[in-house]
Amino acid sequence: MPSSNTIILASGNKKKLKELSAILSQYSMDLLPQSEYKVEDAIEDGLTFVENAIIKARHACKVTGLPAVADDSGLEVDYLKGRPGIYSARFAGEDANDQQNLDKLLSSLQGVAKEKRTARYQCIIVYMRHSEDPTPIICQASWEGIILEAESGNGGFGYDPIFYCPVAGKTAAQMTADEKSSVSHRGKALKAFAKIYAKTKP
Ligand code: IMP
Repeated sequence: MPSSNTIILASGNKKKLKELSAILSQYSMDLLPQSEYKVEDAIEDGLTFVENAIIKARHACKVTGLPAVADDSGLEVDYLKGRPGIYSARFAGEDANDQQNLDKLLSSLQGVAKEKRTARYQCIIVYMRHSEDPTPIICQASWEGIILEAESGNGGFGYDPIFYCPVAGKTAAQMTADEKSSVSHRGKALKAFAKIYAKTKP
């Protein structure tokens, strides 16, 4: 039974859902993954992270009749002029998995010097009260790093084993979940969202 605090997490990505729930459950939100309501993944045909996050949140609101929060995120690599960007989840093809995408990135950067391997994760969080909400809460954050030449670490997901954070001196995959959340694009965007949500909720 949904409560007045129930929010649908509009993502079908299990590892991303784990990060989203771990961070947002520190606030008084009653979170349910969209799979609980049998919400299928939305078609992400926007051209920006913002559009895609709105598409996902709106879709989940429409199907469930409940408020929803969505994340759209990706990796921008400077040497590749910002690619894979919004196509990060399908860099190596429509049905590509994390390992295939990571391998494609490594081969795209083969022979590129360390100083040219700069990159950043981007995250947009969108919260919609209902599917026609004209003023969604939108928060953005990024995380600067360098793309390594080989994988290191087993944590996280996606490109984390090759995303080196110079400030922490390790890859995102070598961090604990809490460590990653304290510096990551997703962690920072979610914290910003939680602050606004707490102020605006009646
Ligand atoms: P989305 O589900 O359409 O937002 O795609 C996000 C994609 O960006 C993921 O599938 C990963 O490839 C990449 N990505 C976003 N955030 C992270 C992260 O925290 N670690 C590793 N990869 C990420």
